[in-house]
Amino acid sequence: MKILVINAGSSSLKYQLINMEDESVIAKGNCDRIGIDGHIKHTAYTGATVDMDCTFPTHTEAFEKLVEVLTTGDAKVLDSMSEVSAVGHRIVQGAEVFDKTTLVTDEVIQKIDDLAELAPVHNHPHALALWACKKVIPETTPQVVVFDTAFHQTMPEKAYMFGMPYECYEKYHVRKYGFHGTSHRFVSMALAEAMGKDIKDLKIVSCHLGNGSSITAVDGGKSVDTSMGFTPLDGVIMGTRSGCVDPSAVTFVANKLGMTPSETSDYLNKKSGFLGISGISSDNRDISAAAAEGNKRAILAGEMLRYEIKKYIGSYAAAMNGLDAVLFTGGIGENSDDLRADVCRNMEVLGIKLDENANAGLRGKLAKISAPDSKVEVWVVPTNEELLIARDTRDLVEGLNK
Ligand code: AMP
Repeated sequence: MKILVINAGSSSLKYQLINMEDESVIAKGNCDRIGIDGHIKHTAYTGATVDMDCTFPTHTEAFEKLVEVLTTGDAKVLDSMSEVSAVGHRIVQGAEVFDKTTLVTDEVIQKIDDLAELAPVHNHPHALALWACKKVIPETTPQVVVFDTAFHQTMPEKAYMFGMPYECYEKYHVRKYGFHGTSHRFVSMALAEAMGKDIKDLKIVSCHLGNGSSITAVDGGKSVDTSMGFTPLDGVIMGTRSGCVDPSAVTFVANKLGMTPSETSDYLNKKSGFLGISGISSDNRDISAAAAEGNKRAILAGEMLRYEIKKYIGSYAAAMNGLDAVLFTGGIGENSDDLRADVCRNMEVLGIKLDENANAGLRGKLAKISAPDSKVEVWVVPTNEELLIARDTRDLVEGLNK
């Protein structure tokens, strides 16, 4: 069975074609600059590539090009699109409407679009891509949507409500939704498997740390709390996002600088975080390099992230009344051994003790990095959201055929 996984943005269409027999990637790539001019970068498992400028006025032309490179030319991997059993799409915001992976119908696409108010940057482009995919992919090929928010729909009310007037929730659906759910679900399941334990018996703090970062308390395989909130702005300090701040600081600064709500949103989403604190870069590698040279604000940015992660681990251990494992994933979590070491240092109070040697130099590999006598196991677990989307899509489609 071959599954095509699509991650669509407003101007891009990232894809992977996955062979479910061995979960290998048959081809992957990105249609970029949709609505501007157009460019496709495609790599087949053979190593053959396509890298060319195109014309992509809309997502439809991008899908047409994708079908063309998959089925024709030097980097082709399919004789026909009928070899693709199903298409799985990543969707950022499912709100309270979608709590699980869902088969696409016209009504489902419309509902995803209706949620655009809650995720303006993502949901409308997702809907456009779904309509375009329907036009281009054979009608008999099922399409499935997998939501970033769905995993967090198990959070209890006390964790997802904000202390604002209740009408904000009732009228405007303002609450914590949480994001990176597909990643947290994938890595927590992979961790349970690596530990040889049933996920139902584990209390895990999952730290997904990248350009965007979120930390989730996973109790018995279910998300019970997470650091991102109504939008992916909440939680720990990120590349360009502030993370959690006192809302009064926001209104105060908006007044001082005469910013509109959308300018204020840009200020917090694009000019804050590592970039805002350091004045150097949003990228963790640049921050680490500057910190190593003694740049005080880069050191501060790194220290803030480490301190906030520590606090989340502690608070989630308290919320779950226990902690069996902490895992690190995402670009920073998988690669930054110094950050993992700093976070896990002086955490004996929680039963966390790192094996400094196992941790040192470890990048992007599944591995246990806690000491043998650590009460809490600490792991690096590489994430693979595309693979989980493909597995979900397969499971749903196989269920349809039963
Ligand atoms: P992601 O959003 O998951 O792709 O993660 C991107 C972040 O991971 C950026 O801040 C990168 O600087 C960081 N990152 C990637 N590779 C490394 C590395 N080898 N060491 C430290 N940070 C890294």
